[in-house]
Amino acid sequence: MTDAAFPHRHLLGIQGLTPPEIQHLLDLADGHVDQCRGADKASDGMAGRTVINLFFENSTRTRTSFELAAKRQGAEVINMQVSTSSVAKGETLIDTAVTLNAMHPDVLVVRHPESGAVKLLAEKVNCAVVNGGDGSHEHPTQALLDALTIRRRKGRLDGLRVAICGDVLHSRVARSNIHLLTTMGTQVRLIGPRTLVPASCAAMGVEVFTNMREGLTDCDIVMMLRLQTERMTGNFIPSVREYFRFYGLDRDKLSRARPDALIMHPGPMNRGVEIDSDVADDFERSVIREQVEMGVAVRMAVLRLLAGNLDQTRRNQPFVGAGGA
Ligand code: ASP
Repeated sequence: MTDAAFPHRHLLGIQGLTPPEIQHLLDLADGHVDQCRGADKASDGMAGRTVINLFFENSTRTRTSFELAAKRQGAEVINMQVSTSSVAKGETLIDTAVTLNAMHPDVLVVRHPESGAVKLLAEKVNCAVVNGGDGSHEHPTQALLDALTIRRRKGRLDGLRVAICGDVLHSRVARSNIHLLTTMGTQVRLIGPRTLVPASCAAMGVEVFTNMREGLTDCDIVMMLRLQTERMTGNFIPSVREYFRFYGLDRDKLSRARPDALIMHPGPMNRGVEIDSDVADDFERSVIREQVEMGVAVRMAVLRLLAGNLDQTRRNQPFVGAGGA
C-alpha cells in the first residue's frame, strides 16, 4: 500500500520533494541504523522482492550499499555491469530497460553518465526506479545520507551553515544536496573557482564564494567535492598544485570554520587535490566513514518504501509504451 507520507513511485531526484517527505525518508533511514550496527542484520521486510542494480558507470560505495541494503531485508539482488551487458553489444538504454522490466523486478537502481537518462528509463518500466546518479544532475540517496549524517551529529538541519566546496559544476552530489538543504532551511554556501562554481548558482538560493577562507568562516559543515576530471571538457583549473593551494581543505583553511565543524566527502577522495589526508583522517572532525555507514541505512529505507508503494496490479500489466518487451 502506498505510504501517504511519501506517495511516489520513483526516487529520481531531491528537487521537488517537500520538507515532510524528506523528513519521512530520513526518519525511516534512521530506524535502520541500529539494525545495521547489530550482530543480526537480517530482516525480511523485502522478502520475495527483486532489486536490479543497473550501473552504466563505475561505482564502489553506491552499488555495494544498494546491494547490502536489499539483501539485509531479504530481497533478491542482481547486479548488471555495463561491460558484461548487452549495452556493450549496442543495445540501447531503453531496450535494456524494457528487457529487464519483462523480468518483473520490483526496483531498478540505475546509474548513468547522462543527465536525465534515469528519468527517461523510468518512463518505460512498470517497476520503481531509484536514481543512483545521472551525469551531473542528481544523486538523491547521496544527499539523503549526507543529511542523515548531519542530522544525527548536529540534531537538526535547519539553521546550520553548510559549505559545499570544489567542483560544483560537474557534481550531482552538490546539486542534490543544494536542493535538500535549502528545502530543509539550511544555509548553503558554494566555494570554488568561477570556472567550477558559476555565479548563476546563486539562483539556487545559495551564497557563492571564490575565496575559500571567507566562505568557510563560521560554517558548521564543510563538504568537499571530488575534482571530476572525467566530466571536464577543457581546462578548468591552472594546475592541481594551484588548485590545492586555493581550494584544497587543510588545517589552516579549516580553522576558519566553527571549532566543531564536521568534514564530509562523498568519496572517492583525491587526497592532496581537494583534501589533505591530515583533515580527511581526523577522527574528531571527519565523518566520511559515517557517511558510508548512513548510505546503507538510507538505501534500505528507500528500497523498502518504493517496493511497498508499487501498485502490484499496475505492475503486472504488460507494458505497452516501449515497443514491446
Ligand atoms: N560518488 C559520487 C558520485 O557518484 C561523487 C564522485 O564520484 O565524486 O557522484
